[in-house]
Amino acid sequence: MTSFEEFAKVCNKVEGIPGSLEMTSVVAGFLREVDDEELGIVTRFIMGSVFPVWSSQELGIGPSLLYAAISKASSLPVKRIEGFVKETGDVGLAAEKAMESGKTHLNLFSEGELSVSDVYSRFKKIATLTGKNSQDSKIKNLQYLFGTAKPGEAVYIARLSIEEMRIGVGEGIVRNAISEAFGVPVGIVERGYMLTNDFGEVAYTAKKEGEQGLLKLGIEVGRPLKMMLAQVASGINEAVGEMGLVAVEWKFDGARIQVHKNGDKVTIYSRKLEDVTASLPDVVSSVKKHVNAEKVILDGEAVALGKDKRPMAFQEILRRFRRKHDVAATAQEIPLHFYLFDILYLDGESLIDEPMEVRRKKLESVCDPEVLAVQTVTGNVSEIEDIYGKALAGGHEGVMLKSPDSLYMPGKRGKNWLKLKPVMETLDLVVVGGEWGEGRRANFIGSYLLACRDPDSDRLLTIGRVATGITDEQLSDLTAIFKELVISESAKNIDFEPEVVFEVAFEEIQKSQNYKSGYALRFPRLVNVRSDKSAQDSDSIERVEQLFIGQKGR
Ligand code: AMP
Repeated sequence: MTSFEEFAKVCNKVEGIPGSLEMTSVVAGFLREVDDEELGIVTRFIMGSVFPVWSSQELGIGPSLLYAAISKASSLPVKRIEGFVKETGDVGLAAEKAMESGKTHLNLFSEGELSVSDVYSRFKKIATLTGKNSQDSKIKNLQYLFGTAKPGEAVYIARLSIEEMRIGVGEGIVRNAISEAFGVPVGIVERGYMLTNDFGEVAYTAKKEGEQGLLKLGIEVGRPLKMMLAQVASGINEAVGEMGLVAVEWKFDGARIQVHKNGDKVTIYSRKLEDVTASLPDVVSSVKKHVNAEKVILDGEAVALGKDKRPMAFQEILRRFRRKHDVAATAQEIPLHFYLFDILYLDGESLIDEPMEVRRKKLESVCDPEVLAVQTVTGNVSEIEDIYGKALAGGHEGVMLKSPDSLYMPGKRGKNWLKLKPVMETLDLVVVGGEWGEGRRANFIGSYLLACRDPDSDRLLTIGRVATGITDEQLSDLTAIFKELVISESAKNIDFEPEVVFEVAFEEIQKSQNYKSGYALRFPRLVNVRSDKSAQDSDSIERVEQLFIGQKGR
């Protein structure tokens, strides 16, 4: 058994190391030492995930539940815990402080020490708790962990509870550490992860069976793979110049699905690899009807088509994906159609290392045309322009330009899949808040809360957060600028004087209860810091409303 204390010590050590090479070798050394049965768990824990990426298990622990558990374990009021969080800016350090200064009920629970497996078993238990009284039971289980832990361990129990380790160990370091620990090539470790979506399993296999074992890891029906992603195309001419022949498909305005069929059992996963089968009975029955294969994994897009056969707004689809009750009624209100455009596995055979042309033939051989995305392979620019025009006229987003000889790269965004869509206008928004980053970005403000103006009341109305499009260099420059503008800080959240204006691009404006403006931005990214503008020059809520109304498909 590996004690959790040992794990905490390694985390603490890693946290103090500035360079990734040294970090990797410390992690590798630890992976080598850990007992077999805990290797998988430790490999995930160290990067802040309790369960494999593909797993639909979720802890469901938010800050208030965590603070309640620390409060109970330390016999300090929740307010004190919140105070510690404010003071340290970190739930881990706050837990440590609480356990040091409060009275722990250690002996009530156990006199022994926690092992890594003990912590994992509690987390597994917590993930099974749902429903009415689950909050209390979750708190009790967490309280047990804090009550048994030493203060130095409490740091990492708290951080694992919210799956944010803040020690700078991400997928890259874990991949390299597995390679170093067990003497297997990095590329083979990467491949194993791509196929299994679980570094825990990869580490265990590397240890037990080495390179040969890793090469035997494969795709399994029922275990989702990350989806291949697309880059923005610079233009049709450029794509044809690059690829020669291009496989052109509509870029459907919907939500990604990965369909797993094993005989009569159909499971649907969302882009985030959540199991959304229960919410999509119509998709399930349509798969059964139109997919003629025993065991297969398919990739596609689910679209909500309105009466006019145009796609409904993205958030309508999300309503379907998130629905837990009254599923049938919602399915009637928002019927889903889907278009399949790829096949990753068929009857015992992985297809991801086959070129797209070959996969496409297999796809066509198992799916009825009703559920197939039409694909045209051409090198003719005006033909592609024509398809693009039709896709937009149909209310869809644009086209995908895919390289016919490309392999399927799970989780990768490369130049073999390009997306072409009209450029949306940008909004100039005032930054009113921020959040400290994670991992490598822990010392920087990683995301910024944005607002537009309400000219009538002269108030600022929040509209979303932006965290992408910010270069490393900008990150440190911006952090320096915003440090001067801090009004208040609590946990990871910071409020700023509204002085800096960001020009932000986005995919779509959505209605939202989460922000004061009543709107939210889908996929916002920073385009420019508009140092030429002040808060008064930022865009108004009217402009947001106009853009919302002017969006296609509405
Ligand atoms: P984006 O979300 O803008 O990065 O664009 C990529 C997304 O477009 C994918 O994740 C899919 O959800 C969606 N999509 C729609 N139609 C297609 C298609 N024919 N091929 C691949 N992806 C598509």
